[in-house]
Amino acid sequence: MEQIHCQGCGVLVQTNDPHELGYTPKSSLERENVLCKRCFRLKHYNEIQDVSMTDDDFLKMVSSIRNRDALVVHVIDIFDVNGSMIQSLPRIVGNNPILLVGNKMDLLPKSTNQRKLKQWLQSSAKEAGFKVKDVFLISSIKGHGMDDLTDRIEYYRENKDVYIVGTTNVGKSTFINRLIKQSIGENEVITTSYFPGTTLGFIEIPLDDKTALIDTPGIVNKQQIAHYISDKDLKVITPNKEIKPRIYQLNDQQTLFFGGLARLDFIKGERQSFVCYFSNQLSIHRTKLEKADALYEDHIGEMLTPPNEESLAKLPELTTTTFRIHGEKTDIVFPGLGWVSVEGSITVVTHSPRGVNVTIRKSLI
Ligand code: GDP
Repeated sequence: MEQIHCQGCGVLVQTNDPHELGYTPKSSLERENVLCKRCFRLKHYNEIQDVSMTDDDFLKMVSSIRNRDALVVHVIDIFDVNGSMIQSLPRIVGNNPILLVGNKMDLLPKSTNQRKLKQWLQSSAKEAGFKVKDVFLISSIKGHGMDDLTDRIEYYRENKDVYIVGTTNVGKSTFINRLIKQSIGENEVITTSYFPGTTLGFIEIPLDDKTALIDTPGIVNKQQIAHYISDKDLKVITPNKEIKPRIYQLNDQQTLFFGGLARLDFIKGERQSFVCYFSNQLSIHRTKLEKADALYEDHIGEMLTPPNEESLAKLPELTTTTFRIHGEKTDIVFPGLGWVSVEGSITVVTHSPRGVNVTIRKSLI
């Protein structure tokens, strides 16, 4: 087959995989100006669709951002901060200023302390190796925080281009679609190939005569639990409305299972409450620590679900981490799943799929 490039974004067109970059249905190859499906939808429906690619491919593609003078907006999912923070961001963007945008605020309980959340996001970014100019908390579905953010983007960009980067599933498309509505209204968005002759797959949405908002493909981050479970299970673990905390009074030597995807053993400490913030649909089971291994062996995929059968086939084994917590109210964070808030001097052991690392932070609530 001769090589055809999309007239919109310049990417090499393919007809095999609808989820990958450059997809277009076979029938549209006959058109004179071939557009990939992503550009087609943007052109005709003013709607951005997400495509994904691996970190390595992405790195190769987007290092060009480094050499440009631009503002970078990094969208992350506040429900999966570890999984959605792009570790290689500094290599990608060089010295360009970064705004960190925590999306899906609507899922957190109203009592969440936003100042602490911002501080935590800032320090998580620092740990990942990059400095951010400012942190914003938004809900792109509900529109919360969007007006303020658009004003600040306009301020920080200093008439330069704006690159939107994020891993898959953080809500980047929902976010950009809202930006398009706000900045361009219902008018048709014109896409142009910003890097003529290249295969970058960037989509450019003009902001004015000279500058543009540029959507980059979503990066696949292997720390996202989303990659290890079926679509059906992803629906169960992803909250679809504000999380209602569930409280368990535990004695030491008791265990909580979060479905069968993660587990918390209370090893040592006074009897106390464990406040669990997970999707309301994810079931939590309490058992004695001495029975926990057998329960897991016998009931994984059945009573302890998700994982369902499909996820079980690709889920890495659970690995453990020990935490000793002293006094201060602390959240034990299971990335992509939720967190457990505890207080007092206790020792716990966490179990999570290999690669999806549990961390602790000062409590947000
Ligand atoms: P992308 O892969 O980063 O482009 O993400 P999408 O925009 O496709 O969104 C991924 C999922 O997150 C979808 O199920 C969205 O409905 C959901 N989502 C996006 N933004 C929000 C938000 O602000 N709040 C909530 N609760 N869900 C969101």
